[in-house]
Amino acid sequence: MNRVVALIVAAGKGERAGGGLPKQFRKLAGKALVAHAYDSVASHPAIDGVLIVTGAEQRDLLTAALGDRLVLCIVTGGASRRESVFAGLEAIGAADIVLIHDAARPFVPHSVIDALLASLENSDGAVPTLPVADTMATRGEVLGDVVDRASLVRVQTPQAFRFADIMAAHKNWQSETEPTDDAQMLRAIGKTVATVEGDSMLDKITRPEDFAAAEARRGQRVFRTGQGFDVHRLSEGEELWLGGIRIPHHKGLLGHSDADVALHALTDALLGAIGSGDIGTHFPPSDPKWRGAPSDRFLEHAAGLVEAEGGRIEHVDLTIICEAPKIGPYRDAMRARIAGLLRLPERRVSVKATTTEGLGFTGRGEGIAAQAMATISLYETGE
Ligand code: MG
Repeated sequence: MNRVVALIVAAGKGERAGGGLPKQFRKLAGKALVAHAYDSVASHPAIDGVLIVTGAEQRDLLTAALGDRLVLCIVTGGASRRESVFAGLEAIGAADIVLIHDAARPFVPHSVIDALLASLENSDGAVPTLPVADTMATRGEVLGDVVDRASLVRVQTPQAFRFADIMAAHKNWQSETEPTDDAQMLRAIGKTVATVEGDSMLDKITRPEDFAAAEARRGQRVFRTGQGFDVHRLSEGEELWLGGIRIPHHKGLLGHSDADVALHALTDALLGAIGSGDIGTHFPPSDPKWRGAPSDRFLEHAAGLVEAEGGRIEHVDLTIICEAPKIGPYRDAMRARIAGLLRLPERRVSVKATTTEGLGFTGRGEGIAAQAMATISLYETGE
């Protein structure tokens, strides 16, 4: 298996894009450009690790933008893009393939990465390109001659290389001139660079208006709904945990974890909204690790998975079904607790309760059931 490392360059000082920050740290749809770039590259199954090069004074900005995203390492860049990439390559040390990418291109379609990696099987390097749509002409005091646009392409990143080759190209480069990308450096040592079809999603963000255009390119916000259902048996001598709080009661719920039926239903609703299995998939009851575990960990994990998908939890709605205890006195505390776990304002968390009029297992007080719905939104990019 090839070890494939992505190197993201986020060392620019450019504030042309506005916002008083270098553009790689400016937010687009609530997330810094560099975090978008990281997410879209790191989520590709062939990528084994991501390394980010940033400016000497930018480490705090980068750390804040990345949150808990895992990187191989953060490298301090140089005075030029070329020097920054070289510092990154040296930090990688060893890899089979490296994808070099600019943080100012926040969305990387997985189909482009697939094409680049496939292309490397028959070439020394590969880059995504797009045709030029506008008329091209030379610049001067007055308009110059038209350049045949059919002979031109726009070159994007990520650019894919065999690690040893691009390292050699960097070491060989005569530093009096600054290249604008790595593919030209590879060509300078006599290697061939293949082209694959680029994508307008990869267009670089440079000016303030590019942010709005990129949000539009990112696709439409779509809503997804998941539902969850759970039951646990009531038993003497157990603590009763419900909706993330402890309720004084002569019986408690029996189960492998703390058996908080309400949080289990909510966890399954969130997992359902992103199509990510169920609570048993993520926390197998056969695993002793989860014995007596507080269920808030399950809920927080599911919320983290939604976030990793680029999703935002819009609303959750929980119904607890039991004859006793009375839920009313605890409803506000549950709501506050769940809102805290999901990091949502309370108005986006609903806690309801009902009885089954004395009928069935809940009516006889043998167990408690819970149902939940979760609504999330995310961007549909057509992948
Ligand atoms: Mg359960």
